[in-house]
Amino acid sequence: MSQTAPEIIVIGAGVVGCSIAFHLAALGQPRVLVLDRLSIGAGTSAQSSGILRTHYSVPQNVELARRSFAAFEGFAACLDDDEADSGLVKCGYLIAAPEGPRLAPLQAALAQQQAMGIPLQRLDARQAAERLPIARFDDAALIGFEPEAGFADAYLVATGFARAARRRGVRFAEGVAVQGLLREGQRVTGVQTDRGPMSAAVVISAQNIWTPELAAWTGIDMPVKPERHRVFAFESAAAPYTPAMPVYKDLGSPGMLYCRSYGGRQMLASEGIAGEVLPAPDVEPGDIPMDAVLEVGEQVAGRFPAYAEAGLASSWTGVYDVTPDWNPVLGPVPGLDGLLVAFGFSGHGFKLSPAVGHLMAQLALGLPTDTAVEPYAIGRFGAGRLLTGLYGEGAVS
Ligand SMILES: Cc1cc2nc3c(=O)[nH]c(=O)nc-3n(C[C@H](O)[C@H](O)[C@H](O)COP(=O)(O)OP(=O)(O)OC[C@H]3O[C@@H](n4cnc5c(N)ncnc54)[C@H](O)[C@@H]3O)c2cc1C
Repeated sequence: MSQTAPEIIVIGAGVVGCSIAFHLAALGQPRVLVLDRLSIGAGTSAQSSGILRTHYSVPQNVELARRSFAAFEGFAACLDDDEADSGLVKCGYLIAAPEGPRLAPLQAALAQQQAMGIPLQRLDARQAAERLPIARFDDAALIGFEPEAGFADAYLVATGFARAARRRGVRFAEGVAVQGLLREGQRVTGVQTDRGPMSAAVVISAQNIWTPELAAWTGIDMPVKPERHRVFAFESAAAPYTPAMPVYKDLGSPGMLYCRSYGGRQMLASEGIAGEVLPAPDVEPGDIPMDAVLEVGEQVAGRFPAYAEAGLASSWTGVYDVTPDWNPVLGPVPGLDGLLVAFGFSGHGFKLSPAVGHLMAQLALGLPTDTAVEPYAIGRFGAGRLLTGLYGEGAVS
């Protein structure tokens, strides 16, 4: 490790921390040290379903997602690394709602996307079935299709950002736990770690579900809770979900299911509603009771008739960092200089990570930001300016 003291310390080498580190270096500040008590991408990023879309009802999220998709698509060029690969499968994103409470939010979100210049098509049931022939659309009152969407690999993206950052001089220290902040009055001057104190002019926390540690170090409330979610891979010999088929968001199912191709022929499916709140951050696999398998399996079979005979190929759990309005907190912490935070991605942070990294790097370097950060300020909760999306609770926003 070089002896030069870092100007900026990033806590957390998930996809967000790695993106921040890369963008700092790309903007001309390579004196960055990224600390992680685990290893690069081994936190909640490793559990991501990887879905990329710009479908949001919150316009600021549309903007961040649009900028991010361009980075995922041109990942090698963005990183100036011919070997970099985001694992992008550009299969598009299909979203449908029946008559009922989710129809108006879908109408509004699609209209807003179009007004923002997002390529978008409204499909009828026949056109939707051409794209996703294994699903039924007979109940759909509105179907949107976004071609600039799909899924990618969060671990590949995190490690890609990390490698490109390293090439520009950023240092990564894995297996190092941050235990507190160094302060001089109101100014944060570095971090205390299990290897000793480390000073820096700016500290950026990208700690995700472990952000409550930061709350304990600062005495400032960080509104985030860890929520465990279940993900299933189903396999149907009669109706494989191939990578050419779009990601599907089923607003007609009780759990607002999302589904995508997985491993070539299987279907990855999960609910897009609130999950199990954990008493403490913990990424260890959780139990998946048979009742939960049946509940999701029934919803899948209701939409994909051939999946009534499908087998469960595998299942796993992952943990979201959920804020009260299901949107991230980005930016400074009032009352503490030299500290920036990026947490609370509420199950949809991967698709935003390139633009969030850029935004956070601009903030850290005192540059004008090219996307608005104020809507994501931590002060919005106390001020009653929540960013709650039209779909309410759940990772659509
Ligand atoms: C099951 C599941 C499915 C998802 N699906 C999608 C999806 O389809 N699309 C999408 O856009 N998003 C999705 N997400 C969300 C997305 O994956 C996350 O928002 C994103 O990966 C979070 O990245 P991160 O860098 O903030 O967090 P993490 O990857 O968790 O990184 C945080 C890092 O901080 C480190 N750390 C914390 N505290 C300390 C400390 N004190 N000292 C040292 N290191 C510390 C941790 O070790 C960890 O490595 C999903 C998430 C889950 C769990």
